Amino acid sequence: MATLVLSSSFLPLKVVSWQKAFCLLFSGRAEKVHVCSERFVRSVSRSYPVPTVIRYRNGGQKYFARNGMTRHALYKRDQGKCVYCGVFLRKEHMTKDHVVPRCQGGKDKWQNVVISCRSCNRKKGGRTPEQAGMPIQEPCVPHVAFLKGKYHEHWKPYLFH
Ligand SMILES: [Zn+2]
Repeated sequence: MATLVLSSSFLPLKVVSWQKAFCLLFSGRAEKVHVCSERFVRSVSRSYPVPTVIRYRNGGQKYFARNGMTRHALYKRDQGKCVYCGVFLRKEHMTKDHVVPRCQGGKDKWQNVVISCRSCNRKKGGRTPEQAGMPIQEPCVPHVAFLKGKYHEHWKPYLFH
């Protein structure tokens, strides 16, 4: 039994154990979105339905950026290729590039970070793709199912839309 965690804006962030999900609920950091009608966890005096989907009350997006956006996850999403020139990269040769550079207010989030080869990264420098004449499609937030494999029926509307 696992629980899908959404950001406050309903973007899929990660999958946690139901024990961890209860911790997030009881600490007040998250709220229930869906529960399983067949599975309950009993305490001495009460029983609680197991949550299948929960949502951070706030700060989820930031939490995800810090925890979910690893080099490995970026490499997997961008299929191991420099997004600018398409050359295949070995993981140890990839560089992380901020599409809108941080010096121009670019954020450290999925939609603004891509993998690139060193020469494209150098060529682009502190410019946006438009300024550098290196246009790309806007990077996506990868689905948790894509990164993890398995999913619950309740997760579908958040993962495939
Ligand atoms: Zn390149």
